[in-house]
Amino acid sequence: MAGRIRREDVAAVRERARIEEIVGEHVTLKTAGVGSMKGLCPFHDERSPSFHVRPQVGLWHCFGCGEGGDVISFLQKVDGLGFTEAVEHLAGRVGVQLRYEEGGAVRPGEEPGRRQRLLEAHRAAAAYYAEQLATPEAAVGRTFLAERGFDRSAAEHFGVGFAPQGWDHLLRHLRGRGFTEGELTSSGLMSQGNRGPYDRFRGRLVWPIRDVTGDVVGFGARRLLEDDQGPKYLNSPETPLYKKAQVLYGIDLAKREIARAKQVVVVEGYTDVMAAHLSGVPTAVATCGTAFGPDHARIVRRLVGDTSAGAGVQLASGTSVGGEIIFTFDGDAAGQKAALRAFGEDQKFYAQTFVAIEPSGMDPCELRQARGPDAVKALVAGRQPLFEFVLRSTLRAHDLDTVEGRVAALRASAPVVAGIRDAALRPEYARMLAGWLGMEQDAVRQAVAVAGRQATAHGGPERGGDAGRGAGRGGSGGEDVEPPRPSARMLAPDRGDPVARLERNALEAVLQYPGSVDAAAFDALGDDAFSVRAFRAVHEAIRAAGGPGSQGSGWAERVREEAAGPVVDLVTELAVAPLPEDRPEAVEDYVRGVVAALVDLGLTRRIADRRGRLQRMDPVGQAEEYGAAFAELVALENHRRAVRARD
Ligand SMILES: [Zn+2]
Repeated sequence: MAGRIRREDVAAVRERARIEEIVGEHVTLKTAGVGSMKGLCPFHDERSPSFHVRPQVGLWHCFGCGEGGDVISFLQKVDGLGFTEAVEHLAGRVGVQLRYEEGGAVRPGEEPGRRQRLLEAHRAAAAYYAEQLATPEAAVGRTFLAERGFDRSAAEHFGVGFAPQGWDHLLRHLRGRGFTEGELTSSGLMSQGNRGPYDRFRGRLVWPIRDVTGDVVGFGARRLLEDDQGPKYLNSPETPLYKKAQVLYGIDLAKREIARAKQVVVVEGYTDVMAAHLSGVPTAVATCGTAFGPDHARIVRRLVGDTSAGAGVQLASGTSVGGEIIFTFDGDAAGQKAALRAFGEDQKFYAQTFVAIEPSGMDPCELRQARGPDAVKALVAGRQPLFEFVLRSTLRAHDLDTVEGRVAALRASAPVVAGIRDAALRPEYARMLAGWLGMEQDAVRQAVAVAGRQATAHGGPERGGDAGRGAGRGGSGGEDVEPPRPSARMLAPDRGDPVARLERNALEAVLQYPGSVDAAAFDALGDDAFSVRAFRAVHEAIRAAGGPGSQGSGWAERVREEAAGPVVDLVTELAVAPLPEDRPEAVEDYVRGVVAALVDLGLTRRIADRRGRLQRMDPVGQAEEYGAAFAELVALENHRRAVRARD
């Protein structure tokens, strides 16, 4: 990882990137009042638009699901990018040269700009390979594709290419385009010999491996020729761009559909990804030369939208709807172990994990050829939950026709059920297990409880026990005990309360049109100007950011930076909210008026307070205090008169 991007560069990117343009690539936006646009939310299912963008404020917010943020967070969410990746991507688009913080996290050889050069080398290599696929020498490659049912347009769609035989075709091509020896060596496109670098891929069919933004970061290459002594599949080595634990082939093509369908299908090879997509399963991806691991799980989870707050969306029926991760393994134990390992301690993910097994052992590529695209779709549709799959596989190893076999099967499968941390799922599986075994439910429940106690006694994470305790009381991980994050909506009060409504409207105005409010009057508001606690927190953030009169751009962003936790979301919501007045000619007056009304209300409240205090005082015995309080009252009343006169 490179060092942190400098703050001012992040700010420059945020300012130059036009949020309505970036969002507009994913969401069709329509004008909704002055300075506001809306569309269908890409983060939840809806039929009428509640997803709003306010270009001049630079923020978006969905009033349906409560998601919101700036242009960077939008890209992060919609494309499943990390913060740095999103900023780098935007910087490339708007032409901001990023600088990274000195020291600390920067690794040697990862100077800024290096990544860009390596990406360019990969782009050039991908174009070169794709061109070579049309040459006479590549006939063997075209035959390979044709035999698997992939025509020319399929090859083009996936960017499949051909690396010619010989040692220096790509080397010379890239040198001719100005890439240095150092760049070529660290790109992983070359191998290093005694006499210098030479082409890593020779006489092979080549698949470009892209990251989630669509940049080519490496290649996978298949052996075609009899005399090729190398492995059947050869991939890029680890490079600054290519980390096999983190790449998923097909993710660039699948990500939108994965986010939309909240489903990802993990297949085993490049041709399986192609076959799945061409068969109408556009959510398929594959790992490249490695098993599905925790880093892959993280990427996939980000795309299918399993939030760290836990259980996904809770339906009225009580069922939890998260995304689905479907593995198509050839049914062997290695595959299921890989799936179980990948999610490790993160058990709440298991509930979303499914396994799709083709009984004949065919992979999606073979299946599409033998029985057509519908068979591939049927394979995916026939998925079963991972727990069920593991339990059934365990039972298959025993003879359930004998008492001894059933007891042994129960002994082997009870720990699996006891290991399910989701308190809602565990009894359900115990019940199903009883059914499959043909045993009494009580006996199975008891065996599960015993297995749970044994696991605990052996120092494993706390599990089992049939008491209905909350889900996910994790052991060491602790991740799933995290309380759900309070949403801005939970903080915001009932809109029926007129004072709360005025406070809300005033904050909306200050956040959206800071230049139109009376900054001096707003700045003079006391700590107690807002009666709603959440609004008071927003007020504090506004003051910490310098107040509406403060100079400089990125106003709403600065307020967000001063806010903490869920208050950030509330600031975003207020900064994006449609205003009650949205006629262009009336907005300014509305903004000024609503803030003035709040200022007036605050002053009126303080005046009433001082009056009450004066009445409780003894003007003679407490002459000095009385005089001071009286002067304060007069000052407040003068202030109020001045504020009212300004309107
Ligand atoms: Zn939404």
